[in-house]
Amino acid sequence: MTAFEHPSAPDLSAPTQSSSGSTWQELLPPMSAHEAAVEANRCLYCYDAPCLQACPTHIDIPTFIRKIGTGNLRGSARTILEANFLGGTCARVCPVQELCEGACVLGKDHTPIQIGRLQRYAVDHVQERGVQLFQPGTPTGKSVAVVGSGPAGISAAAELAKAGHAVTLLEKREQAGGLSTYGIVSLREPIEIAQREVQALIDLGVDVQTGRELTGKADLDILLHDHDAVFLALGLGAVPAMGVPGEEHLIDGLDFIEQAKLHPETLLYSLKTVVIGAGNTAIDAATMARRAGAEVLVVYRRTEAEMTAYRHEYEFALHEGIAFTFLTQPVEVVSHGGKVTGLKCVKMALGAPDASGRPRPQPVPGSEFILDCDQVISAIGQEKPDLAKLLGLELEGGYIKVNHDLQTSLPRVWAGGDGVRLRGSASTVMAVQDGKIAAAGIHAALGAGEVGGGKWEVGTPQTS
Ligand SMILES: Cc1cc2nc3c(=O)[nH]c(=O)nc-3n(C[C@H](O)[C@H](O)[C@H](O)COP(=O)(O)OP(=O)(O)OC[C@H]3O[C@@H](n4cnc5c(N)ncnc54)[C@H](O)[C@@H]3O)c2cc1C
Ligand code: SF4
Repeated sequence: MTAFEHPSAPDLSAPTQSSSGSTWQELLPPMSAHEAAVEANRCLYCYDAPCLQACPTHIDIPTFIRKIGTGNLRGSARTILEANFLGGTCARVCPVQELCEGACVLGKDHTPIQIGRLQRYAVDHVQERGVQLFQPGTPTGKSVAVVGSGPAGISAAAELAKAGHAVTLLEKREQAGGLSTYGIVSLREPIEIAQREVQALIDLGVDVQTGRELTGKADLDILLHDHDAVFLALGLGAVPAMGVPGEEHLIDGLDFIEQAKLHPETLLYSLKTVVIGAGNTAIDAATMARRAGAEVLVVYRRTEAEMTAYRHEYEFALHEGIAFTFLTQPVEVVSHGGKVTGLKCVKMALGAPDASGRPRPQPVPGSEFILDCDQVISAIGQEKPDLAKLLGLELEGGYIKVNHDLQTSLPRVWAGGDGVRLRGSASTVMAVQDGKIAAAGIHAALGAGEVGGGKWEVGTPQTS
């Protein structure tokens, strides 16, 4: 029996359509004015609100909801965006079930307030109308270079511009926005949302330069020569190699998601697809393949309990008709005449805990079998930031080592986002908060004259 005939596999005959009726459009529809008013008026406006405590960017949730209730949408959006410049993205991609909505007091006996959807309602109201809520601060005469335009870079650049610093943001890709633009599937965040946030940054006077890559220490030295401080928001790298025979036939999960987001019309339809991995990238790749009409099976070498994908996304994938098989390790991509025909796997059993504290999966001797398929997508995570070593940065567990203010081991260089996320889950909202922390640290250091005061010579030792 192949796992495509797995006993728990649902009917794979027809992919689910989104509620809007389109295969690729945003899954949740926007709230109507009536829905938003009714939902806002359900909120108890709790004192010391647990929802606010649960938000990593500390958005004043009761206040923004109250403003929606009184029809002050501009004020509501201001409350949100003051705390989180990427409020439009976070409203869509945050794991609200585990954060604000999970903490809502109404969740215990009733339904929690739909905080994410209310946030989206308020932010969309101003951003769809191109309302510019913030102004650049009074010029300080200092300048900061930000490298990487994902959530961490955009958040830091916005806060620094609001504080009056001249900010240049360098991005190696053609479009800015990081994984919000290229990674998170359009069902959750259409590309226009990320681009609106980039535009808001440009409107704040930030010099956004795309197609500009930081390639090594010499580039960093130039940035340090030309600017008073540098913030590195490089994210993580590509999907790592699996080291199995036939590797060259594997499709990179991030490339697949990007293609599905930017050019869904180019996806090959109705292929039997195996996705390797069990994190958010795997779920997203599987979802996009399924939406393209494929039969999709996700294989993971551990069990359901050890999956790193958000629980609600796993459940969503099941609902979409994606099948899963656990304790299964791919060992070879099988091909014939250059075409993938299958994935050879071995069954696994859980052994003693490994360094991560999770039970170590071990191959069951003689359990090899082949899954028939037409394409195999590898989505086993992202590589750690390899550029960091070239830049001469101290690392910790492969990630850029930073202190509590997100200062790196190099003078006048800060870092944040996924590239420093040794602990805790990598998420958009955590990257946004990193941007705020780094911006506050840089601003304090520039204001205190600890860095800046004219451009520094390359290699000036850190004094803060
Ligand atoms: C498929 C997928 C789905 C996800 N879904 C969710 C979700 O639903 N909810 C959630 O909260 N999080 C999700 N995440 C995680 C979230 O996207 C990241 O945590 C977040 O984007 C990290 O932000 P960042 O700014 O650190 O990095 P990134 O968003 O990766 O941005 C880094 C930027 O730096 C640029 N860059 C890198 N090196 C250089 C260089 N040398 N020179 C110039 N530019 C450079 C890159 O091109 C990129 O634009 C998902 C991630 C993936 C991969
Ligand atoms: S916990 Fe729930 S009810 Fe209380 S303020 Fe937050 S959203 Fe409103």
